[in-house]
Amino acid sequence: MHHDTAHEVKHHHRIPMLALPTPLEDAGRLPSGRRLLIKRDDLTSLGMGGNKARKAEVLCADAVSQGSDLLVTVGAEQSNHARMTAAAGARIGMETHLVVGGRPSTKPTGNQLLASLFGAELHPVGSDAWPDLELEMQRLVDAWSAAGRSPYAIPMGGSSPVGCSAFVWAWRELIEQLDDLGRDVSTVVVTSSTGGTHAGLLAGRALFGGPRILAIDVAKASGDLAEDTRRLADATLDVVGEQVTVVRSDLWIDTRHVGPGYAVPTAAADEAMVGLARSGGWVLDRVYTAKGFAGLLANDRDDTLGPGDVVFWHTGGQPAVFSEHGAPAVGAERILTTNITPTRDLEIT
Ligand SMILES: *Cc1c(COP(=O)(O)O)cnc(C)c1O
Repeated sequence: MHHDTAHEVKHHHRIPMLALPTPLEDAGRLPSGRRLLIKRDDLTSLGMGGNKARKAEVLCADAVSQGSDLLVTVGAEQSNHARMTAAAGARIGMETHLVVGGRPSTKPTGNQLLASLFGAELHPVGSDAWPDLELEMQRLVDAWSAAGRSPYAIPMGGSSPVGCSAFVWAWRELIEQLDDLGRDVSTVVVTSSTGGTHAGLLAGRALFGGPRILAIDVAKASGDLAEDTRRLADATLDVVGEQVTVVRSDLWIDTRHVGPGYAVPTAAADEAMVGLARSGGWVLDRVYTAKGFAGLLANDRDDTLGPGDVVFWHTGGQPAVFSEHGAPAVGAERILTTNITPTRDLEIT
């Protein structure tokens, strides 16, 4: 099916910092026999890549057009979003502050190591409770404002409607790649935490059409994640100036793969991480994408993914692999059942 991606939409302010389009890779067959494609948004290039880099482009454009002189955001101890915000701040030459979970460390690892390398100032709050992080950011914003600064505060995950609008264009990018390849995809699977990436993709789908989207929740949101995501998708469509709305039946969220909680490892995620790594050198992370991919495998097993190919939207997260709890607990001795058949038709050119 060919999609009308020429549809022009207003308000697309961004500061280009990414290498786009990201690759769409053939990753062989799933256990059911369905073909798997991986949308490599882990390769967005800014500050070692990931989904938040797309949001950073539009958020930075917004910050600059508002005359802001400082970026501040919040995230968990190993926040990929905080790390990419730090990289974006470095790229546009804007002072960047990160309010993060956990205690101060003299030997930061993974994302914190990179965020410091990019020159951001870390503000560890000694707690992992999300409301505590938001409160501390607000306290800092008030203090800076009182001192005559103009801070640009970015919410958790960069998931303001402006930030999410980046995924409207990301969806169009995928649809164009699928049209070029002539691939018939039934389902796109994406890992969801704040719901911002999912909301942006849903907004894109409302405009440009395309396959169903299955979001795998990895954060166990306390409220109504589906309704929050739907509202965010509508707010995102407002930002891009469109009258379309996303309806509840567009929302498909699988909440069964979080395990005990956000960033708490699960055996299924560890197996998915090792399985995909061994089937072709793809790297997932324990907090997000391994749980997302475990959700994809479970739905493949349950036969809910439809007759066509499946796209896994790889949102990144690799720097966390090099943090304290980043390595999977599945050893080399374990025989894996999540085995994805590698593509055997190797092409030598
Ligand atoms: C932030 C993040 C997600 C979730 O994105 P949201 O827009 O917050 O739902 C998924 N994967 C990785 C690696 C992330 O860093």
